[in-house]
Amino acid sequence: MKVYVSFWLPEAPLNVLREKHEVIVNEKESLPSADELVAQLADADAFLCVGSRVDSSVLDRVGDRLKVIANWGVGYNNIDADYAAGKGIMVTNTPDVLTETTADMAWALLMAVARRVVEADAYVRAGQFQGFKPFAMLGSDVWGKTIGIVGFGRIGQAVGRRALGFGMKVLYYDAVRLSPESEKELSATYVDLDTLVKVSDFVSLHVPLVDDTRHLIDAARLSTMKPTAFLVNAARGPVVDEQALLDALRDGKIAGAGLDVFEREPEVTPGLLELSNVVLAPHIGSGTWETRTNMAHVAVRNIIAALDGETPPNLVNKPSAV
Ligand code: NAP
Repeated sequence: MKVYVSFWLPEAPLNVLREKHEVIVNEKESLPSADELVAQLADADAFLCVGSRVDSSVLDRVGDRLKVIANWGVGYNNIDADYAAGKGIMVTNTPDVLTETTADMAWALLMAVARRVVEADAYVRAGQFQGFKPFAMLGSDVWGKTIGIVGFGRIGQAVGRRALGFGMKVLYYDAVRLSPESEKELSATYVDLDTLVKVSDFVSLHVPLVDDTRHLIDAARLSTMKPTAFLVNAARGPVVDEQALLDALRDGKIAGAGLDVFEREPEVTPGLLELSNVVLAPHIGSGTWETRTNMAHVAVRNIIAALDGETPPNLVNKPSAV
């Protein structure tokens, strides 16, 4: 059967697919256009989706053979999974294998912005380090502070475990409150979102992008954060109103931000690029060689299961025909 892969992936997982199926990989340096995608999916049985947007206008034009779209990523807001379900197409994702790696990146952003690592690096490179100055380039403490984690699922909890190692108080907000046993095990306290935003020294976002979480952090919420607090977003850009964040940073309503994701990627709201209290990364939360290869292995397993007529391990929708 034919499997289309929309961006280059490591050979090891692709070779597993090739044992059973014909694999066509987009060889370009960029993602296929919607028309190229539709042309490839006209006779494909499976689609290993690496960053492509698959909305209803694409799904209306794919061939009848398409059984599964295996997203290479845990967040699948790039795919209209419900619409796909209506057409009997399974959608799968790649949870778990990227949890710790993405939590590491959120932590890296948090540390970098609090301790001004990027600014300090630029300062030394520019030859400005002329000798130790006791009160130059001071940052904010991380240890012992309060972190508020928004979305306390796999990655949010992994961030919470890291925070405990720094002696931090862990608050969380999630659509569903954990059991008292889990809260005790994770030393985490549930609070409502408004309280979390008000009292936290660090707010770290780990919700999926869905209708309810779009602009969850807006001007109103930013205005209630402490002026000494930092925002970290390694979830999805549109969870934050990026213009409101820029305004809050400029007006000193918050102290800084660490951003791995942006509202209109790859565009970055221009003013952000000029601010020194923001650390920016190009959507590399899961970006280690090991993890991104493992994500491909998981996507491949989902495709093989689906094409074998089984329910794939990471099915996220309920296709009418399954
Ligand atoms: P997860 O285990 O499903 O955790 C997400 C948590 O958010 C769940 O507990 C979920 O609750 C909760 N949630 C959903 N809607 C909510 C709402 N409206 N308000 C409050 N909480 C809500 O997912 P994960 O594996 O931790 O991944 C989280 C997100 O991180 C992904 O969706 C993805 O977008 C992002 N991510 C980014 C990168 C990157 O490269 N920067 C890498 C990996 C993941 P329910 O389970 O009850 O829905």
